[in-house]
Amino acid sequence: MLFEDLSLSKSIQKAVYELGYLEPTPIQEQSIPSILQGRDLIGCAQTGTGKTAAFAIPIIHQLHRIVGSSKKSKQIRCLVVTPTRELAVQIGQNFDQYAKYTNLTSLTIFGGVSQVPQVDMLRSGIDILVATPGRLLDLNKQGYIDLDHLHCLVLDEADQMLDMGFVNDVKKIVKLTPDNRQTLLFSATMPMAIRELSEMFLKDPVSVTVSPVSSTAENVEQRVYFVDKSEKRNLLHHLITKENLSDVLVFSRTKHGADNVVKSLRNKGVAAEAIHGDKSQNARQRVLDAFKKKEVGVLVATDIAARGIDIDQLPYVINFDLPNIPETYVHRIGRTGRAGNGGVAISFCGKDEAPYWKDIQKLIKVDVEVVKDHPYAWKEGSPDENTPKTSSNRSKEAHNSRKSTASKQNKKRWY
Ligand code: AMP
Repeated sequence: MLFEDLSLSKSIQKAVYELGYLEPTPIQEQSIPSILQGRDLIGCAQTGTGKTAAFAIPIIHQLHRIVGSSKKSKQIRCLVVTPTRELAVQIGQNFDQYAKYTNLTSLTIFGGVSQVPQVDMLRSGIDILVATPGRLLDLNKQGYIDLDHLHCLVLDEADQMLDMGFVNDVKKIVKLTPDNRQTLLFSATMPMAIRELSEMFLKDPVSVTVSPVSSTAENVEQRVYFVDKSEKRNLLHHLITKENLSDVLVFSRTKHGADNVVKSLRNKGVAAEAIHGDKSQNARQRVLDAFKKKEVGVLVATDIAARGIDIDQLPYVINFDLPNIPETYVHRIGRTGRAGNGGVAISFCGKDEAPYWKDIQKLIKVDVEVVKDHPYAWKEGSPDENTPKTSSNRSKEAHNSRKSTASKQNKKRWY
């Protein structure tokens, strides 16, 4: 299937074509026709599957037809609620890209920054609003946001919104919207609580699933290093310098840990930055931009801050700490190997994290390569001496794996 088979308006087709999208991804192929028919939809898809375009494109198509070139004052006709500021910025940017050749206007609002420019834009009138829950409710309470004319409500990353304690905010937001709206709900996982939410807010929804959360992308090469906890920083520096890694996203379990990793890398002359919830919105955006422009080779992030990071062709993800929730591992390594590109996911497993690694393996059911030939291995060996595929010559192997990753870059494979 091609985008031109989806009967989208010419202005959207042109914008999408310019972005280099030729074929819709599976989530897009399955969702766009139903959304165009006005159906409610529940989509189970991870970030990286093209899910933003799966809802943004048909919404823009519908609004473009409704609003057209009308000179009537603008009203908020689409609202996207998403848990993090980074994700909100990214979704807003995507809407702007896809709506480039229409006269629809969008605004992205989130907390932690002055409300003045946001209020100015709201006063001048917009069609599409992308928002985090707190600022949305705040500006609504102040009388700047009217959702009475809403056509479409999107609840994005619903599981994350629940995890972050936004469930009551989400319920309040839905109450502010008209009953005859179209509702689209996307979530990477489908726990019972999400099903209940969808039953509450969606009418006879179409259900679309692309790859369950337990599956890791086939085009991501995974490796694990069993490493003494106290040696993790040395191993990180060793890998980054010896294997000449750049564009590396490192995950740390805590904000404090992220800052410490950055400090230790900088002390050793590696340009690194941290991104986490204690940083101001402006600081986070600055760091993200520097990383995207390749001015900083290593970005150390906590899970929540990393949730919205969309960087094309991110080649390396390193789990400096293993997550205690196995699904988080899948989310993390989904930061690489996006949009059909290859990637490498490296995990450091300290002795105290062995149970986490077991849980992860149980979930992903992939025989992950154990790299044993490194200077910082556990003193008494790895937990499973029988399975590892030891690399006798790591550099050669790293070179080969990079080669094979590169060769996979051309293969389009969506997960
Ligand atoms: P998302 O899952 O929305 O975060 O999208 C992941 C990445 O895939 C983003 O960088 C999009 O620009 C890109 N993308 C989305 N749809 C397509 C498509 N049909 N063809 C190529 N790239 C796409």
